[in-house]
Amino acid sequence: MSPQHKATRLVRQTRTGRRTDMPKSICVTGGAGFLGSHLCARLIGEGHRVTCIDNFHTGRPANVAALARSNRFELVEHDVMDALPEHLPAFDEIYNLACPASPVHYQSDPVRTALICAEGAANVLYRAQRDGARVMQASTSEIYGDPEIHPQREDYCGNVNTVGPRSCYDEGKRFAETLFTDFARQSGVVVKIVRIFNTYGPRMQPDDGRVVSNFILQALRGEDITIYGEGQQTRSFCYVDDLIEGFVRLMASGPEVDGPVNIGNPTEITVGELAQIIIEMTGASSKIVHRPLPVDDPRRRRPDITRASTLLGWAPRVPLAEGLDKTIRYFASLNQTLAPAQRH
Ligand code: NAD
Ligand code: UDP
Repeated sequence: MSPQHKATRLVRQTRTGRRTDMPKSICVTGGAGFLGSHLCARLIGEGHRVTCIDNFHTGRPANVAALARSNRFELVEHDVMDALPEHLPAFDEIYNLACPASPVHYQSDPVRTALICAEGAANVLYRAQRDGARVMQASTSEIYGDPEIHPQREDYCGNVNTVGPRSCYDEGKRFAETLFTDFARQSGVVVKIVRIFNTYGPRMQPDDGRVVSNFILQALRGEDITIYGEGQQTRSFCYVDDLIEGFVRLMASGPEVDGPVNIGNPTEITVGELAQIIIEMTGASSKIVHRPLPVDDPRRRRPDITRASTLLGWAPRVPLAEGLDKTIRYFASLNQTLAPAQRH
């Protein structure tokens, strides 16, 4: 058998769902963003060919500049609201991450946010069908809204306001889950849905107003730390490397892993506790100030990761102190620490 035939045979095996160690052709939409850039780096490191599709709405080419040295990496400027470009190679796998993710960004143009969720999902699904690729949707803990069940299991249907300021994102992501699920039922395309809980790490965007980046930047500049509300609301923060490990395991999983899977760190802390930890770790002289709690801000959030641990053998490995230390070092190395942190 010629090498070309051999490669074709092995790629076909991948498309039917069996695992192979052969390099794959993988598309990451939103690959120039925070999570996408880490995913691209991981996949390039494993020897795959990676096509990063991004319109640089919230991401930056600089996030993947180091990968451009590899001839297996391609950066394509494109909006996922349009069909994926015809000229690109056939993909074995598509990760759909393209969507503004922080409240500051997704609320700046809510109509567009809702439409990106819907049309982006449709476009990657049609492309996956054409290429025979498997496809993963980056969903979110936001689909649980302000949860009445704690911790959140995947079979909890959520408590989401359909007409609030967060709805464009929450309902957009819920619709995308529905489209992925129905598309798989009707077409046989292999889909995976990951529900991502709050994730942090290097390459978070300094201007996106998330609590970890805001508190670290405020502390590094000696500014006031802005706690919204009393600071009693909780979140569970996952270090980015742990999340990416979960992505890769879920994408490689067999048909027994059907339906959404939570990936997040179940260690839950209050926003007030997070502020204290960051002040201590940075040695900052900052004082804490309180600002109004945004509308529909979830009071509690913690993933139940039973499905991820039993089906994927996944568990987070990086403790909060270690992950925060890496993230603080990253922000300390940026010039942007001079710009003011963002508010909702
Ligand atoms: P991010 O804003 O850093 O990355 C999103 C990327 O998508 C950016 O590079 C942006 O330019 C790109 N993009 C946006 N709209 C696009 C469009 N129409 N066409 C092409 N590219 C587009 O955010 P992130 O934190 O890396 O999030 C990535 C994904 O993970 C998002 O889908 C988000 O909803 C999901 N998610 C993230 C978190 C988290 O804690 N970071 C939590 C839950 C879900
Ligand atoms: N938050 C805060 N101060 C900030 C930024 C955010 O107290 O400077 C709060 C925010 O109101 C929310 C929590 O921190 O309760 C997490 O906010 P983030 O935007 O990071 O994530 P999400 O609300 O989407 O979980």
